[in-house]
Amino acid sequence: MIDYHLHGNFCGHGRGSLEEYVSFAIERGFKEIGFSAHLPKIKNPDPYHAMPEEDLPRYVELVEELRGRYRERIVIKLGIEADYFEGLERVIGSLLDAYPFDYVFGAIHFLGDWHFTSKAGRGRYELEDPNEAYPAYFELVKLMIRSGLFDILAHPDAIRREGFIPDRSMTSVYRDIAGLLKQAGMAIEVNTAGVRRGVGGVYPEKAFLSACRAEGVPVTIGSDAHDPHDVGRDYDYAVKLLESLRISEVATYHRRRMTLRPLRDFFRDRADGNR
Ligand SMILES: [Zn+2]
Ligand SMILES: [Zn+2]
Repeated sequence: MIDYHLHGNFCGHGRGSLEEYVSFAIERGFKEIGFSAHLPKIKNPDPYHAMPEEDLPRYVELVEELRGRYRERIVIKLGIEADYFEGLERVIGSLLDAYPFDYVFGAIHFLGDWHFTSKAGRGRYELEDPNEAYPAYFELVKLMIRSGLFDILAHPDAIRREGFIPDRSMTSVYRDIAGLLKQAGMAIEVNTAGVRRGVGGVYPEKAFLSACRAEGVPVTIGSDAHDPHDVGRDYDYAVKLLESLRISEVATYHRRRMTLRPLRDFFRDRADGNR
C-alpha cells in the first residue's frame, strides 16, 4: 500500500522517530510512504502544533537519509503539511520553495483562535455553531486552493465531527471545491484519521469525494499517523470508499510533479490475503 501522511516527533503532538514509521511501514508491507511533518507555523509559532523553523533543515536531511538507507525495501517521499494563513502566502511560498519537497499538503487546522483539530480544541465544538463554522472553514479552503501554493488538499472536511453537522447540505460547496481543485491541478486526500477521531468514517465524506470524482480530481491516501503504530491504520475504510466510487488510481509525487498509478500496484500479493 501507500501512505502519504506520516508525522513523527518533530512536532510536540507527534510520537516516535521517523525511522520507527519506516520500520512499521515495511513490516506492514507498504511499498511507498511519505512524511508530511507540519511546516513551521508562520503565524504565532507553536512547537506543539508544528516544528520550530530551525528544525526544518534537519527534517529534510533526515527524510533524505532514510530514503537512501531503505532504498531497497521501500520508497520514501519528502512531503510537508503546510497551514494556510490568508495574507501570508508569500512567506509560506518562500519556505516551501527552499526545499526539494516531493509534495505539499495544504491544510486548515485553525478557525481564528480555535485550533479545532487539536485535543484542546475539541471541547469548543459544543460552543460553536456548525452553520457558521462550515462556511468559514470552506471559505478558507477555497482561498487556500486559489493561492496555488499546494499540491494536495489534506483531510478535506476536517471541521466535520459526529453531531457537528450544519442544517444546509454542503453538496454545492463540494462541487465548487472540486472544480477549483481541478483547475489548480491539485489532488484530494482520503485521510483515515477521521475513523479514529470519531467522525464516523474517513475524511472526506462520500458526497465530497464523489463530487471530486465527477471532476476527475486525483486522490492520495494517508493515515495521518502521529504514532508509528498508526501507519496505514483503518485502510479498509479508505479502500471500500474508493472501490464504491470506482476510483482505481492514486496520485504519487516526485519533486512536486504528479503521476497517476493504479491503486492495485500498491496492494501486496492477494495470495496472502492482505493488502
Ligand atoms: Zn499533526
Ligand atoms: Zn493536518
